[in-house]
Amino acid sequence: MGLRDFEYIEPQTVKKACKVLSKYPEEAFTYAGGTSLLLLMKQGIVRPKYLVNIKRIPKLRYIENDTESVRIGALTTHHDLEVSPVIQQFFPMITEIEPQIANIRVRSTGTVGGNLGFAEPLTDLPPIFIALDARIKIETPTDGRMMLLEELFVGYYETCLEASELITEVQIDKTPANFGLKYIRFSAGSDKPAVGSAVAVWIDSGGRAEDARVVLGCVAPTPLRVREAEEVLKGKEFQLELAEQAAEIAARACSPLSDIRGSEEYKRAIVKVLTRQAIEEAFNRAAANRADQQ
Ligand SMILES: Cc1cc2nc3c(=O)[nH]c(=O)nc-3n(C[C@H](O)[C@H](O)[C@H](O)COP(=O)(O)OP(=O)(O)OC[C@H]3O[C@@H](n4cnc5c(N)ncnc54)[C@H](O)[C@@H]3O)c2cc1C
Repeated sequence: MGLRDFEYIEPQTVKKACKVLSKYPEEAFTYAGGTSLLLLMKQGIVRPKYLVNIKRIPKLRYIENDTESVRIGALTTHHDLEVSPVIQQFFPMITEIEPQIANIRVRSTGTVGGNLGFAEPLTDLPPIFIALDARIKIETPTDGRMMLLEELFVGYYETCLEASELITEVQIDKTPANFGLKYIRFSAGSDKPAVGSAVAVWIDSGGRAEDARVVLGCVAPTPLRVREAEEVLKGKEFQLELAEQAAEIAARACSPLSDIRGSEEYKRAIVKVLTRQAIEEAFNRAAANRADQQ
């Protein structure tokens, strides 16, 4: 199907983009990498009257290495993350997963802002970023604010942002030496993920988890933080039975849809397996990081 006519707008600043979006809340659509939006437009699912291309706004594509944190601009692409020495140094779990995401065409153009702002459930970055307690910077037509990424998502393809608001940056604090994170995704071939599980732990000198994150992707309307599973891990050393107990809780907590990627039952079984493995590997990584620093 061909594209319907639309008015093309190329704002030069974030504020100008927000103002256009606020003027036409129902009819204007943000275009960043275009990987998702163009598909929807070609299928006639969305019919923008105004296409607001933010890709040419200067200074939104960067990975900045600050003292305490790393800041990632919204127009940073998957490929930028994949090849960044800063990401490799401070967040190797992102470098590790990027080559598995989509395909090189999508990774070269799809942006971090689009990955989060589109709020598609079948994505990989949100569970990893949430397990890292990432924050996002939001710009509005008049001012801006920071929020936890975890609070962004409210439903399938739905965020808490106003139509006039844009994500401009992701901020992730550098992790301490007692930290370990493992994200495992399951997908059929080079498709979008069907299930993703991110587990992070901070361990004490005895190998016990001081804190933990268990975050699932693809198996609920939004990325799902399973606090009950985190509580099971806290204060404990790694043990297989413990990991199985937490993984069982995660599998019960999610609400996967049956679709071409698998039945609800199948996906719950995969959640359990991946989460158990991710817990073990997160503890191993935290212990190895601790040992490296001593
Ligand atoms: C075939 C295919 C396979 C994919 N596989 C994976 C995968 O395996 N793992 C994965 O994680 N992701 C996957 N994705 C998603 C991809 O990573 C992109 O992140 C995603 O498509 C959107 O990024 P974009 O920059 O192209 O956004 P666009 O298509 O340009 O925009 C889509 C929408 O996102 C919103 N948006 C864009 N930028 C912002 C912003 N700065 N602030 C607020 N809202 C914004 C707007 O509503 C916009 O209309 C896949 C996508 C495709 C098309």
